Amino acid sequence: MAEYIVKENALRAFFQALAQERRLLAPVRVGGKLQMAEARPEEVTLDYGNTHQSPKSAFFPQTERLMAFHKDTAQSDPFVYKPLGLDKITPTVLFGLRPCDAQGLAICDQVFQNDRFTDPYWKTKYESSIKIGLACDQPGPACFCTAVGGSPYGEAGLDALAAVKDAGLALKAITEAGAEFLKKLPGLESGAAESELAERRKAVESKMPGPLDQAKVAAGAILDIFNQPHWKDTADRCLNCGTCTFVCPTCHCFDIQDEQNDKGGVRMRNWDTCMSWLYTVHGTGHNPRPTKTERMRQRFLHKLKYIPLKQNGQSGCIGCGRCVTLCPVNIDIREVAKQMNG
Ligand code: SF4
Ligand code: SF4
Repeated sequence: MAEYIVKENALRAFFQALAQERRLLAPVRVGGKLQMAEARPEEVTLDYGNTHQSPKSAFFPQTERLMAFHKDTAQSDPFVYKPLGLDKITPTVLFGLRPCDAQGLAICDQVFQNDRFTDPYWKTKYESSIKIGLACDQPGPACFCTAVGGSPYGEAGLDALAAVKDAGLALKAITEAGAEFLKKLPGLESGAAESELAERRKAVESKMPGPLDQAKVAAGAILDIFNQPHWKDTADRCLNCGTCTFVCPTCHCFDIQDEQNDKGGVRMRNWDTCMSWLYTVHGTGHNPRPTKTERMRQRFLHKLKYIPLKQNGQSGCIGCGRCVTLCPVNIDIREVAKQMNG
């Protein structure tokens, strides 16, 4: 696959070329926080740990209008429906995705399009985007991608991977789509990026945590893990605020609501959280997850047992560390994983 070196003095032109080719999403500072957001070439930063929120909102926004409907009593079906947005999706390039986040998007991709369901909103955006990763040479204190099968130089879910080199970039294509896209950019200089990336991958991985032992969780019966005694202790601390789910790159739950009046309305999809009591309450008032213990347990079982069962052993946690850093009561998924495996 093609390899390139982008020198420091050619960086601005590189980002300009990306922005000319497609809508550019990249790490930028928004209100003092790093976010993966629409970026002007001069705003893109290479010097960052991880974005505050995960990049999942590029394909699965916090709030999304799916469809509009209005009443037309002259028709045999008095409601007229019109899908929204699918014809307005702009081809996008994401530059600077951390490898853990790209892996997270690949996990969501299997949820939103698989042999049983296809979500056209996700599919259209995800498949029309080019994803260029930026490897981590200085993973943050809460990062643990290597403990859950990833790498700061991981390639899953990416079309190309870059690393900062002499304040510029070493860049290689990973997929055919990535190679084709990079080939079209004017002024890119070929250069030996592959060996540089491989060497640096080894160096940074050697400083990262080793695999988290999840053998007993993998082999154990769900009911046994379900009934472990530690859940209540963790749940007693949890506020059920949902922060961990909203910032997580692999959490993908949503609620659909019609906002309407007697003439018509809009069907909205909004992020939801399994930490909320309302999330599982039935129309009858019965709630199968009535206390924090059931809700807390669900989140960890989903990440560490159910997703691996459905996705060939792939952990549903990709070790980005966001929930570890942002949980207001310091609940740490690594500690819970150890208790589950205990
Ligand atoms: S962020 Fe912490 S307190 Fe809030 S729901 Fe998640 S585990 Fe509970
Ligand atoms: S569970 Fe926490 S550490 Fe794991 S991917 Fe989600 S936010 Fe990141």
